[in-house]
Amino acid sequence: MESLSEMDGVVVKTTLQLIAPGILVVFGVAFVCAWLIERKRHYLFLLAGACVLFALGSMSQILSWPPGAGPNAIVSGALYTAAVIVAVEGILLRSGKPLGPVIDMAILAVFVLLLAYFFYIDRNVVARVYIQNFGYGLLMVIAAWRLTALARGRYVDRALFWVLVLFGLHFFPRTLLTVGFSMPVDRTAFANSMFWQALQLSLAVLGAGLALAILAAAVSDMIDDLRRERDLDLLTGILNRRGFQERVSVHLNKYGPGHAALALCDIDNFKSINDTLGHDVGDDVLGEVGRMLRSSSRKRDIVGRLGGEEFAVFLPDTNEQDAVDYAERLRVAIAQNRFVIPGGVRQVTVSFGVGTLQPEDSWLSLYKRVDGRLYEAKRTGRNRTISDASSSISADATAGGAEYRLPRLESLDGAMNERPLPI
Ligand code: GH3
Ligand code: MG
Ligand code: MG
Repeated sequence: MESLSEMDGVVVKTTLQLIAPGILVVFGVAFVCAWLIERKRHYLFLLAGACVLFALGSMSQILSWPPGAGPNAIVSGALYTAAVIVAVEGILLRSGKPLGPVIDMAILAVFVLLLAYFFYIDRNVVARVYIQNFGYGLLMVIAAWRLTALARGRYVDRALFWVLVLFGLHFFPRTLLTVGFSMPVDRTAFANSMFWQALQLSLAVLGAGLALAILAAAVSDMIDDLRRERDLDLLTGILNRRGFQERVSVHLNKYGPGHAALALCDIDNFKSINDTLGHDVGDDVLGEVGRMLRSSSRKRDIVGRLGGEEFAVFLPDTNEQDAVDYAERLRVAIAQNRFVIPGGVRQVTVSFGVGTLQPEDSWLSLYKRVDGRLYEAKRTGRNRTISDASSSISADATAGGAEYRLPRLESLDGAMNERPLPI
């Protein structure tokens, strides 16, 4: 009777111990599913592999496979080590900083050789426990060290970074506090030891935390990529109307009146390019104008194609004069550019409307005002820039609208086309 209940106890215990590897397999499946959604994210596959390797490692220990203390210690140790290396490599690969297969194999070999040495040559279970735990902690801390940029990233990146740091660091005090410098002598005592229990619990909690943090980061990556694609104009590689409007609306109230500007740019007589040369050539011209706008803008400028052949650039920290200078330089660069078309080159001109942010401006009121300037530029002959100031000049002094003729225009040469504009 007693031996039966003892057996029951063993079954219950083994079942309980298998919960942790079972959960790991679930996470492994989750990583495989995430990888199947987007196979270019190879790191998800590595993380699935790490879960499976770790589950195999603990199963080999719990089920005593292979039998025999030596082979079991080496096989389970190798599986655990491989799992940690693959997990670390997966996390590093996500940020494009993998250690590479050579270093991975070298680390694995060092661990296995050390474990074999401290079993077969100098039998010392405490040494083996320290090698594995301190080794794994060190690997994770090194990975976190390579990923310090994550600590300044999005919330999910920060969470991933700190869980990794915590996971890595916890190996050190936990091992010291629970193992100290001596171990229980037999296997049952080891399984019942404070060390083994604490190991199971902390690995389950931190392992699940790390897996969830990586999954959250992966989902975030995918959503960010989709958002980027949604907001991007495929033809020109700059923002589409939606993306442009959303970003400008967010930035609008960061700047005071007169401290940010909007430049609207519309290709002149674009319809004739389509009509005479075909839609494809029209698309090429749009693409090139988009590239010129992008390469001539500062990093924090927001550049978009609002639709058709109308482009827009939001210029933070830019006053009216600087915005006009910017538009004029671009206008001249585009006018001087030789657009390659089948059988030759063609010149293209654009018109600009420019305006600065005014008190109480919304995106729509700013857009409408600047669009009025653009309309003015078209009405008064095209291939020109009209700003708030120039339109008032035109009303006062110049009949039929004012074209901005800056002295610096003369200094621009054709070479401008081959390099980004120095703005
Ligand atoms: P304006 O100087 O007054 O701006 O004259 P425009 O011919 O440039 O302007 P209009 O609005 O009359 O014509 C714009 C043309 O742009 C009409 C449309 O077929 C063409 N268009 C709009 N989107 C695209 C596109 O994605 N690709 C190409 N190739 N053409 C486009
Ligand atoms: Mg046009
Ligand atoms: Mg237009």
